Amino acid sequence: MALDSIKGSLKEKGVRLTRQRELLLELIDKSGEHLDAERLFQLAKERDPKLNRVTVYRTLKLLKQGGLVDELDLMHYGGDQHYYETRMKQEHAHVICLRCGKVEEFFGDPLQRLRRQIESHFGFQVLLARTEVGGFCSHCQSLRAREMEQAARESAAHQALAETDGPGHRSRSKRPA
Ligand SMILES: [Zn+2]
Ligand SMILES: [Zn+2]
Repeated sequence: MALDSIKGSLKEKGVRLTRQRELLLELIDKSGEHLDAERLFQLAKERDPKLNRVTVYRTLKLLKQGGLVDELDLMHYGGDQHYYETRMKQEHAHVICLRCGKVEEFFGDPLQRLRRQIESHFGFQVLLARTEVGGFCSHCQSLRAREMEQAARESAAHQALAETDGPGHRSRSKRPA
């Protein structure tokens, strides 16, 4: 759905697209990112300094209830933070790195297939689907591998130290008689 057709469908529903609602919709749509309410408030304030936090939060809630905006928790990577994106995008899965918080969007056939399978399997009418996948991005995988190596080296060094000195520690070099 394009922004224009959203405006059209809102009009049909008798929902007035106020300037604040339009501004927020636009910010969410154009950012291409998944912004949280606080970040959206900051961005909106740059455009309209008179906007206050309460209005922005209330407007987000309204947009969500109107089905124009999706609210995501992205595997709770950022704690209780919620993120927003427009429903104008094609259905996609969110792939979240649990280490650095990078979010990738996976568009693709398997998602539509899953939807169709669920519909035929349960005789269910799917209205919305949300897919989230958590894990480590390739960059973080290599960082983690390095960290684990480092930790293993450190603990080996620690152990070697403990074995050579200090009473009460068993020693590999001096076998008990
Ligand atoms: Zn990462
Ligand atoms: Zn998304």
